[in-house]
Amino acid sequence: MKLNRISLLRVHYMPKLFEPGILYVSEEYGTAMHLCACGCGLKVTTPILPSRWSFKDTPHGPSLWPSVGNWTQPCNSHYVIDDGDIVWCESWSPEAVMAGREHEKAKRAAYYDKLYDRDWIGRAWNWLKGLFAR
Ligand SMILES: [Zn+2]
Repeated sequence: MKLNRISLLRVHYMPKLFEPGILYVSEEYGTAMHLCACGCGLKVTTPILPSRWSFKDTPHGPSLWPSVGNWTQPCNSHYVIDDGDIVWCESWSPEAVMAGREHEKAKRAAYYDKLYDRDWIGRAWNWLKGLFAR
C-alpha cells in the first residue's frame, strides 16, 4: 500500500528492523534510511551530504530533497518527502510536482489571509503564523 505520510525518528545507529512510514535519520553518520513508501519492503538509503540529499526537520515532518527514485527496483517508485508528506511523482518531474505544491500552498495562504484579514481572528492567525514561521 502506498503511503502518504512519513514521520521522523532521529537515531544514532540504524536499527536492525525498519518500520514503514518512518524516516530514520542519523545526523552523526550523515545518513537517512526508510522503507520504500510503496510498501514493497525495500530499504532505501539516502546519504545526507551536500552532494546527495538535503534533509530538513519541519514542524510538520521531515523533508528530503531531491526526490527518491527507486529506478533499479521492481517497484520503480518515485516520490519527494516534503513536510512529512510523501508526494508521488510518477508521471511528472519532481520539480514540476513541487512547483505545483508551492503554488497550492501559496494560494491557500492567500485565501486564509483574505478571509481573516480584517478582524481579530486575522490578528490571532497572523500571530500564530508568526510563531510557526520557518
Ligand atoms: Zn517500492
